[in-house]
Amino acid sequence: MGVITKKIKGTEDVLPKQSYRWQFIENIMREEAANFGFKEMRTPVFEHTELFARGVGATTDVVQKEMYTFDTKGGESVTLRPEGTAGAARAVLEHALTNEGLPIKAYYLTSCYRYEKPQAGRLREFHQFGIEEYGTSSPLADAEVISLADSIFKRLQIKNLHLEINSIGCPECRPKYNRALKEYFSQFKDKLCGNCLNRLEKNPMRLIDCKVPSCSEIAKNAPSILDYLCEECDSHFEQVKTYLTTAGIDYKVNPTIVRGLDYYTKTVFEFVSDAIGSQGTVCGGGRYDGLVEELGGQHLPSLGYAMGLERLLMVMENQGIEIPRPEPCALYIAGLGDNAQVKAFELIGAVRSCGLSAETDVVGRGLRAQMKYADKIGARFSMVIGDNELDENKAKVKNMTTGEQTEIELDSSFAEKFSDIQLAAKFSEGVE
Ligand code: ATP
Ligand code: MG
Repeated sequence: MGVITKKIKGTEDVLPKQSYRWQFIENIMREEAANFGFKEMRTPVFEHTELFARGVGATTDVVQKEMYTFDTKGGESVTLRPEGTAGAARAVLEHALTNEGLPIKAYYLTSCYRYEKPQAGRLREFHQFGIEEYGTSSPLADAEVISLADSIFKRLQIKNLHLEINSIGCPECRPKYNRALKEYFSQFKDKLCGNCLNRLEKNPMRLIDCKVPSCSEIAKNAPSILDYLCEECDSHFEQVKTYLTTAGIDYKVNPTIVRGLDYYTKTVFEFVSDAIGSQGTVCGGGRYDGLVEELGGQHLPSLGYAMGLERLLMVMENQGIEIPRPEPCALYIAGLGDNAQVKAFELIGAVRSCGLSAETDVVGRGLRAQMKYADKIGARFSMVIGDNELDENKAKVKNMTTGEQTEIELDSSFAEKFSDIQLAAKFSEGVE
């Protein structure tokens, strides 16, 4: 009989031999977020569909084409989260986090679901690290969250990432810009894709973002939002740029960045890599001053972004950035015979209690096969216990790198003594 099924298209398995790569970047993200005062937030993988329809925006590609939406047995429409912000904002409101003082600073590390055409860097289940900050309209906050992303990329040693920033204005200045866009794009009605024709009436800014080559060619000469910003948006944008310069962060102003989700206002930005082809945006975000109000809350200026973990890992792989491998097994004990196995089991327990990794045979192999396994897992030390060792209550611990052997008693002092031996070995390796 064959395996009854395979993984779903557009999903990936992270296998035991690869998971250290994920853990490495996730740990750095957690550490940097904590340094900047952000705490983790976890929200459910599914939410009521209307949350995303309202929060992300009904005319966006995400809501129109990409959501995993289904009816529950109770007849409710629910959706697997396509992004993290709507759920975070919902939780902020539901738990009245604003009463606990502003700003609210949270991060998340989660899976997201979008029904997209799977290709390199574009999956149907993917993972994001995201930052959420609620209750601040200061341009300093914009620069600070960007600086957090920048710190993460620096610690990951990623090269050639370009920060591109833009301002897409606010409800005050956007209508004027939308009118200008409508006027401009209307001249090309016969050349626009069907989607764009639709959006032209409802949300003309989406046309700037269209990936269809003939549309993006037309979009190149479209009016720039930067010529339409109101005084407040203009001054906000200038201050963000000043703060970024102060932080020593290079950026390029790119007026064609409008972002794919409707909730953005003022600052939007992307970090783009040229190392992974066309899906080069590893991080995207900006301000969403109107989102909380849109979801039925008070006016709560907010901002944030998300980075795609799969894309980051691809960039790191393409740039040959080494990710430190996890510590191998400290001690492998081979037990020959039933009594020796009992002893081996007891001793590895004691070693593990000291915070070191230890293994023994769990599949009933002979000595040769056991030593082969110890080699394969890269055990730093090994030890064989047979009848002689049991009689004498002593055995030899072998350093697998140097071949050096040290006799050690198999009593209650074993784990502590082994711990000293491996520390000394580590020290001399470090010194050499
Ligand atoms: P794109 O323009 O590539 O479609 P997006 O604007 O839809 O990206 P966001 O919704 O802002 O992306 O998500 C933030 C980040 O999440 C992206 O920059 C990317 O790194 C990652 N991401 C988004 N969609 C996917 C996907 N389908 N597969 C893998 N990563 C993704
Ligand atoms: Mg997208």
